[in-house]
Amino acid sequence: MKKALVCGAGGFIGGHMVKQLKDEGYWVRGVDIKEHEFSVLPTDDFVVGNLCDPRVVEAVVDEGMDEIYQFAADMGGAGYIFTGEHDADVMHNSALCNLNTVHEATRKNVGKIFYSSSACIYPETIQTDPDNPGLKESFAYPAEPDSEYGWEKLFSERLYLSFQRNYGLEVHIARFHNIFGSEGTWCGGKEKAPAAMCRKVAEAAEGAEIEIWGDGEQTRSFLFIDECIEGVRRLMKSDFSGPVNIGSDEMISINNLAMMAADIAGKDIRLKHIEGPLGVRGRNSENTFIKEKLHWAPQGTLRAGMEKTYAWIAGQVERK
Ligand code: NAD
Repeated sequence: MKKALVCGAGGFIGGHMVKQLKDEGYWVRGVDIKEHEFSVLPTDDFVVGNLCDPRVVEAVVDEGMDEIYQFAADMGGAGYIFTGEHDADVMHNSALCNLNTVHEATRKNVGKIFYSSSACIYPETIQTDPDNPGLKESFAYPAEPDSEYGWEKLFSERLYLSFQRNYGLEVHIARFHNIFGSEGTWCGGKEKAPAAMCRKVAEAAEGAEIEIWGDGEQTRSFLFIDECIEGVRRLMKSDFSGPVNIGSDEMISINNLAMMAADIAGKDIRLKHIEGPLGVRGRNSENTFIKEKLHWAPQGTLRAGMEKTYAWIAGQVERK
């Protein structure tokens, strides 16, 4: 039986990965500073611990373990990473998680490790156009991410790749582009745009206004969680290290995302534009490289993913 460690298992993507690995017959240990909020995970072992502490990392990484999935990061949506208030924590905490994990994985001869990087590593200067034609992996340099979150991700990509070069650790890296779906943060300030739109619409009365940060013409692409998990598993089974984009190339403005949520809910909603943290003007995934390397790319529509996500968030709102 293969053994895997999922770091950040108490979070959105980590929780879904635990379920996937269990379905595939793995023995799975999860580690996180907190239990999963929305799900009872089918882990064989779950450790509540802080990966910034090397003693915790030493305890959760077993000698010769087959795979590690490193999703732990101090992160959130625009309301968390673009205000500047959390920069020190984001850089310090996430970098320590990665430094400790890559070191211990090498020391204990772990078979392979996955690292979750982000579209936030791409330079701000090439994301000023809302009609962004897509971010190719090679556009990462010369580097100029728009946030400290992006800089830490870029540093950690290089950290993992240098351990691969110097110590032979097998590394696989994906740059996720806005992953969304059920069982992710949907309120409290760390939620991302799709969850925020679903929540605002679910909470709004018929004909009410919902608030949108900025003019709402900023664009993004959003990938449904099931395809993110499939992409990571395909990458881990391949001999390709990346970094490679795992994202959708179906771009949408935030205004239209809000209207899509309203349409799914069957509600007549109006948009009120207010000041707020925005991030770059236009961002989209470019999927030529993943098609070339994995002969696969995400195919699902945003609408199909939003329908499932809205149903789950509306249920959460009702329960609250
Ligand atoms: P999430 O916040 O739901 O999950 C991250 C988990 O890491 C949380 O449960 C958190 O408690 C845990 N964690 C944070 N610091 C820790 C520490 N010191 N020790 C142990 N656990 C710790 O986020 P997510 O959406 O599941 O994202 C997973 C990974 O993917 C992150 O590294 C994130 O940066 C990356 N990513 C996500 C997206 C996205 O759209 N969701 C996009 C790009 C990159």
